[in-house]
Amino acid sequence: MIAGLPLDFIERFERLCPPSLLADAAASFTQDKSVSFRLNRLHPKHLETLASLDQLGIGYQPVDWAHEQGIMAYTVAATQREQLTHSLPAATGELYIQSLSSMLAPLLLAPQSDEWVLDLAAAPGGKTILMAEMMKNGGKISAVEPVKNRFFRLQANLERLGVTNTKTYMKDGRAIGTLKPDTFDRVMLDAPCSSESRFDAHDPESVEHWSLRKVAECSKKQKRLILSGFDALKTGGIMMYCTCSFSPEENEIPLSDLLKKRPNAHVLPITLDLCNLSEGLTEWEGKALDPRCALSRRVWPNAQMDGFFLALIQKT
Ligand code: SAM
Repeated sequence: MIAGLPLDFIERFERLCPPSLLADAAASFTQDKSVSFRLNRLHPKHLETLASLDQLGIGYQPVDWAHEQGIMAYTVAATQREQLTHSLPAATGELYIQSLSSMLAPLLLAPQSDEWVLDLAAAPGGKTILMAEMMKNGGKISAVEPVKNRFFRLQANLERLGVTNTKTYMKDGRAIGTLKPDTFDRVMLDAPCSSESRFDAHDPESVEHWSLRKVAECSKKQKRLILSGFDALKTGGIMMYCTCSFSPEENEIPLSDLLKKRPNAHVLPITLDLCNLSEGLTEWEGKALDPRCALSRRVWPNAQMDGFFLALIQKT
């Protein structure tokens, strides 16, 4: 049904996706999707940016649900992707190109300007930057990224976008829970994953590193990262665990594992006014998962959005 994608992936995707959303979701793997960006309110000239895009002949549409939440997000037709990417406002950090799904995780974590936030898997920094913007560069963000070239890209992006409340650390996120226990008000864990939502049926490179073995490897790392992120939270603190994969091994299974190992972990409900959502799974391949996984949300891809998994967890 989705030629160009791995058969194992298709078989599982068709089992996971709600039937009512399957046609749009399947089509999204072959579509040239519109590109989304948001104005960077940390940049003094961000209110002039739309006029600059008008001058360049780049057309944009506001994203209503994002504007309602205070994020100045817009979409641009796929045909103008290159033009937007190489535009001056993108180069100077007046705007940041980011998928709409990626904006949801900071929005739901809702960091406050007097808090200390840990971003446990931060590069290239899209979510760190949005959180800094939401915090008006107040409070503190500690951003962790162990991969050297990605770490330097993270630093460059933070500087270009005018982020001043963030310190960066080239460290393995799995160590942070032990190094800084009970420390942070909020934790963002946008976990390294098999990136299934980035699959493009026309681009063989997008799927070449994927296999069920890769999914299992990611799952092992994610189980350790989610425990580490949780241990780093203060009592009362909140963590966002998210991935851009569909595999339960990378989503509900690490979540269920955390709930089993940390009795003081609780899943918070997620309220999002989108029609491409489903509840988290409470069972996979005959194995029961923690019933509270139902409170997490799966975002299914469509012509505007990429797939995502979102879970909000509180330490009590
Ligand atoms: N949050 C980022 C954003 O919005 O721009 C994207 C993060 S990406 C999904 C996951 C990141 O985790 C990658 O940059 C990867 O190098 C990093 N990573 C891989 N292993 C890690 C580990 N053990 N600890 C922390 N981060 C890790």
